[in-house]
Amino acid sequence: MSGEVPAYDVAVIGAGVNGAGIARDAALRGLRVLVLDKNDMCSGTSAVSSRLIHGGLRYLEYGEIPLVYESLHERRRLRRNAAHLVEPIRISIPVFSAARRGPWLIRLGMIAYDLLSLGKSMPGHEMLSRDRIRSEEPGMLDDGLLGAARYFDAQVTYAERLVLENLLAARSAGAEIRTYCEVREIRACDGRVEALAYDDSDGNRIEVKVQSIVNASGPWVDEILKTAPRVAKRFVGGTKGSHIVVGRFNGAPGDAFYVEAAADGRPFFIIPWNDQFLIGTTDIRYEESLDHIRASRAEVDYLLAETNRVFPQANLTRADIHFAYAGVRPLPHREAGPESAITRRHIIKVNRNIAKGLISIIGGKLTTYRNLAEQTVDKLARVLRRKLPGCRTRDTLLPGAWGIEQAREQLAASGFLTPAGRKRLLAVYGGRAADIITLAASDPELQQAMGGEGRLIAAEVVFVIREEFASTLADIVFRRMMIGFDADQGRSLYAEIAARAAAEFAWTNEKTEREIAALIEYADSFRVT
Ligand SMILES: Cc1cc2nc3c(=O)[nH]c(=O)nc-3n(C[C@H](O)[C@H](O)[C@H](O)COP(=O)(O)OP(=O)(O)OC[C@H]3O[C@@H](n4cnc5c(N)ncnc54)[C@H](O)[C@@H]3O)c2cc1C
Repeated sequence: MSGEVPAYDVAVIGAGVNGAGIARDAALRGLRVLVLDKNDMCSGTSAVSSRLIHGGLRYLEYGEIPLVYESLHERRRLRRNAAHLVEPIRISIPVFSAARRGPWLIRLGMIAYDLLSLGKSMPGHEMLSRDRIRSEEPGMLDDGLLGAARYFDAQVTYAERLVLENLLAARSAGAEIRTYCEVREIRACDGRVEALAYDDSDGNRIEVKVQSIVNASGPWVDEILKTAPRVAKRFVGGTKGSHIVVGRFNGAPGDAFYVEAAADGRPFFIIPWNDQFLIGTTDIRYEESLDHIRASRAEVDYLLAETNRVFPQANLTRADIHFAYAGVRPLPHREAGPESAITRRHIIKVNRNIAKGLISIIGGKLTTYRNLAEQTVDKLARVLRRKLPGCRTRDTLLPGAWGIEQAREQLAASGFLTPAGRKRLLAVYGGRAADIITLAASDPELQQAMGGEGRLIAAEVVFVIREEFASTLADIVFRRMMIGFDADQGRSLYAEIAARAAAEFAWTNEKTEREIAALIEYADSFRVT
């Protein structure tokens, strides 16, 4: 292939939050970008987090001050640039007499957190007496309770949409995005990246010439490097984290809670999320298959037991769990030591020993993806020996953050949805909800209510297929419309959505049946048995 002009300046492997952020930044700076993911976008770690945009209070214990500082600054930017997706969340930390972390340590942590978020847009912390927290959260364990700390962080209910909007912005700036394309080989010539080969969704092997590659495949980073001409040392040693999702329970808190587990002293979250409660996480070294990660029985029992301990009237059992999810943190590989002590800082590794023009991303959080992307593209400019314009993502709104107020007015005037339906559409699509209403207005068929409650309209299904490159029913339900994370996983709507998608894609009956079966299998994979 030598001698041909490369079709792309950079191929980004992986459309998780980091790959999507890097693609957006690189495309906005004028690079010709190709993004490849072996599944849909946001189908790896970025979809299984605690969904917090946070400074990481716990990282203070490990002296990761620069990471907390960076995270708190990025939190502020995301609140502005993705205002429709990132909301403030109030978090309480109860302090018990038997806990490892006493009231003074917690207070010190709170003060440091406030100081590191100077210039912040959220209120500072508060220390609450025993009586006050008791009166505000009467369902909480009383035994040994000394008081509580309260502070603000932020939550991204639909992290999938944050990733998607980065990809939409990348695409508007000229990037090409190909999902269901699995990278199989990195080729080099004279020690420099020259091309990569991937299998497309029909199983065809495709080769593209590229000048550089960013390996942003999260926990799969080492697997990608194995396809390069030279063998690399191991970079990623992931730890597994699981969450369970339950409905409102007896004595449930009004706020999010950050609680020290009695079993191992590890803090975990109980977070109001998507009209339910998201409870997690665990942190366990993981060496098994990265493609089939499930919450284990022991992890589920641990999260149930710890929640029941702090909220004694909850009496939660496995039968109360709507669904669970698990994933692997792509952390730097460490042979030994406690999982919680492995650094959460990201590393942007220039793999010049393997092939010039190859960069791998190790670690990175949802919260800091934008800064990671900026640093990666700065490094890429040096690797490509190109003078690129400065980063533009610090102050540029994501696509759905534009025109939210106009969309709200247009929705109210349209009369297509109930108030709850309108609220939901804005929460998922931000200002782009107006485009769904415009599409519906163009065709009476698309104005039909789905599910009969006026909560959804048919135009939404067509919109995510035409505008958001959804290609399977699971893409539509779980990573575009987000109803896959309703208490019933949106199951009552599968048949209607399938019929609408089948008409749009011109699927045969057989293909539609196969798609429905695959969707049900996917939804079942989140169930706890
Ligand atoms: C339990 C848990 C809780 C967390 N909570 C938080 C939190 O509250 N806040 C926060 O900021 N961070 C949190 N994190 C961290 C954060 O979620 C991750 O670090 C981040 O999402 C990693 O994103 P990524 O893009 O690097 O990887 P991923 O999201 O895993 O993306 C990698 C992509 O690469 C693709 N890929 C793999 N192999 C190939 C191939 N051969 N060809 C093409 N594509 C391929 C995959 O399909 C995948 O889509 C949490 C992580 C975990 C596990």
